[in-house]
Amino acid sequence: MPQIRVAVVGAGIAGLTLAAALHRAGIDCHVYEQAERLMEVGAGVQVAPNATRLLHRLGLGEHLGAVAVAPEAIEMRRWDDGRLLQQTTLGSQCEVRFGAPYLAVHRADLHGALLSLVPPDRVHLDARLDTVTQDAGAARLHLAGGTTVDADLVVGADGIHSVCREQIVTDTPRYSGQTIYRGLVPADRVPYLLTNPRVQLWFGPDQHLVCYPVSAGRQVSFGATVPASDWREESWSARGDATQLAMAYAGWHPDVARLIKAADGVSRWALHDRDGIDRLSAGRVTLIGDAAHPMLPFQAQGANQAIEDAVVLAACLAGAGPDGLDEALRRYAELRLPRTTRIQQQSRANAETFHLVDGDAQRRRDTSARRSSGLDQHAWLFGYDAEQATTTSRSA
Ligand SMILES: Cc1cc2nc3c(=O)[nH]c(=O)nc-3n(C[C@H](O)[C@H](O)[C@H](O)COP(=O)(O)OP(=O)(O)OC[C@H]3O[C@@H](n4cnc5c(N)ncnc54)[C@H](O)[C@@H]3O)c2cc1C
Repeated sequence: MPQIRVAVVGAGIAGLTLAAALHRAGIDCHVYEQAERLMEVGAGVQVAPNATRLLHRLGLGEHLGAVAVAPEAIEMRRWDDGRLLQQTTLGSQCEVRFGAPYLAVHRADLHGALLSLVPPDRVHLDARLDTVTQDAGAARLHLAGGTTVDADLVVGADGIHSVCREQIVTDTPRYSGQTIYRGLVPADRVPYLLTNPRVQLWFGPDQHLVCYPVSAGRQVSFGATVPASDWREESWSARGDATQLAMAYAGWHPDVARLIKAADGVSRWALHDRDGIDRLSAGRVTLIGDAAHPMLPFQAQGANQAIEDAVVLAACLAGAGPDGLDEALRRYAELRLPRTTRIQQQSRANAETFHLVDGDAQRRRDTSARRSSGLDQHAWLFGYDAEQATTTSRSA
């Protein structure tokens, strides 16, 4: 059977996971990344069992085990007095129930782990996509500088501002009205956050803060939202003003204030998303990760869904020659769209519930949070096996 040639645009978590999964399946694949050097931002990412099970199968179990932290719980707390609103036990209970751990990882560690699975000659840096064209025979990447690359399939893993997405839909990212400050704090400055490593969320009027240990417990990563009408930067190198951040969280619980104060520096990022779409492909171009379904980070699932997309797309393509492309892409969309649309919508809804001002609605939220503590509420999300779903759909 003739080999399908795949060109992936973007070497983020989505693009590298896809390259690793295609390589495992013996499918030829090259990744084109605009950056001159590969480096992920200095911040953490939560990876839930629905994605860690897939990363483990790619062979990263030991690697991640050495660099990540397996939090014992997710705790939601009230902003001023720190009262516990909800606790979900993770740790071994979560791992036993879902067959894979919940991990908190430094992004550079996850990125590095994925990169170790891809042959170096398959990743092309300083290769910025300007446009994609296609006809019945091939898709063509037009890179900055004039180079062109032909492939049977182009996969846009090029993030929220995807160039490839223009082949599928005409839309633009929508600013959420929220910015997020992010920082990393050496663990010895905040020892109170390291006893029983946890993901902690602090909910308050109009904003929230999340923190958890990463780097095998050597650092604590935090993200603190602050509403703003006048901030549009989307670059992790955009420095934030730590004093402004501290002012925005004045009056919050002392644990929060101490954490913010302990950071040497913070970055600031404007949070955007887009509406869901009803197709993922057009001809020989398809989308994965944030290019397909950028979501607000309030469900901590964007990277998890990127990993699921990548593994499912690779499974759909495995065994499909160039003639089976349409069918493979149809199955890919059928498997992915309902789930990613649901999570995208839930992430946007959480922007409301996380940021309620004190009052009746906040009290109803807190009461319902106490009632819904536990892993059951996460079963649909964490218990899903995206790879197994591809075999179930094939045999159906
Ligand atoms: C504050 C915050 C916290 C988050 N926390 C979590 C979390 O805890 N858990 C979770 O699962 N998700 C989380 N997310 C979401 C997660 O970070 C993203 O969903 C994920 O990183 C998307 O990966 P991606 O590879 O699709 O896109 P990106 O990471 O955006 O990668 C896209 C890549 O494509 C490259 N590229 C772009 N355009 C071009 C071009 N024209 N030519 C060539 N290359 C190009 C870029 O340089 C980049 O390397 C969070 C997001 C934010 C903002």
